[in-house]
Amino acid sequence: MEELKLFAVEIGEKPFRGKQIYNWLNQGVRSFDEMTDLSKALREKLKGSAQIGGCRAIRMQEDKNDGTCKILFEADTATEDETATEAGTAASDKPADTFEGVFMRYSYGNSLCVSSQVGCKMGCKFCASALGGFVRDLDAGEMLGQVLEAERVTDSTVSRIVIMGMGEPFDNYENVAKFLRLLHAEEGRNMSWRNMTVSTSGLIPGIRRFEEDFPQVNLAISLHRLTDEGRSKIMPVNQKYPLEQLLEAAREYTDKTHRRITFEYALIEGENDTDRDVELMIKRLGGMLCHVNLIPLNKVDETGFSGTSRKRAHEIAERLENAGIPATVRRQLGSEIDGACGQLRLRQQAEIG
Ligand code: SAH
Repeated sequence: MEELKLFAVEIGEKPFRGKQIYNWLNQGVRSFDEMTDLSKALREKLKGSAQIGGCRAIRMQEDKNDGTCKILFEADTATEDETATEAGTAASDKPADTFEGVFMRYSYGNSLCVSSQVGCKMGCKFCASALGGFVRDLDAGEMLGQVLEAERVTDSTVSRIVIMGMGEPFDNYENVAKFLRLLHAEEGRNMSWRNMTVSTSGLIPGIRRFEEDFPQVNLAISLHRLTDEGRSKIMPVNQKYPLEQLLEAAREYTDKTHRRITFEYALIEGENDTDRDVELMIKRLGGMLCHVNLIPLNKVDETGFSGTSRKRAHEIAERLENAGIPATVRRQLGSEIDGACGQLRLRQQAEIG
């Protein structure tokens, strides 16, 4: 809001106009003409000096069983004449500059998985987002836009967000931080910090900054393997921030914030789901204030990896639980659709050729 107040002054208006614009933007309006408490003259002035950024849904896939919607977004530089494209129809002429969100229905409210970048630099071997390389960072408006646009196309309210879409949030820290603050702003969406989760592949400086700046926002770390050799093989980021240091940073995080950390563990058949792997998990994570979220890998054909069976996943969860480590198998939502990070974009690109 402060930025919009300054902008209002810059164009020769009173600061409170910035507040009015802020309120409209938070309601998801797509054009200045919808800002009906602004004079016609001011709306014309805005058209000449500003654009409503954000993004729009260009494709949507719904899982009929559980209502999960995978949405493909395109950055929005809407002009007054353009109307929102019908979700699920239009193809983008800039296929690379698209990003995804997943809308999930839970008993305690709807959650949106948000992307923080177009593509990703981390290069995890099992992940579809890594395949196209890195394109660019998303700005805070484009992240908030995913929430507003998801609400529009699903005609539902989003009450929680997880930053587990495309991209590495701590590789785009400033914009992610601004997005979280926009969500939390009392005059914005007023979302509780506790309804937000950020997931990182393990960028230690980001974790340290995050525990200072956002001690109440949930933190998830993608662990996936518990030896340096094995982890480096599937997650190149491990070469820069090796396991021991990462687990140390995690312990520091829980000491400082007194908050339980979530470790994500994508179960890859024959790669990290053996009894030996489970023993290592118990040895290295035992006693930590943590929760292990086991995610049978969502198969991405191009990567050559497949997921562990749900039966085996539940067996592993039970063994962890018996060893005193809280563990759950992630509920499988959207298995009918391309539910994994970066998969919808991949398909769209393949279709366009
Ligand atoms: N870069 C961040 C956030 C985005 S990925 C991170 O790495 O945490 C969100 C989660 O999905 C990560 O745990 C990631 O490893 C996992 N993931 C990526 N591809 C997957 C797939 N095909 N199946 C299951 N989980 C996957």
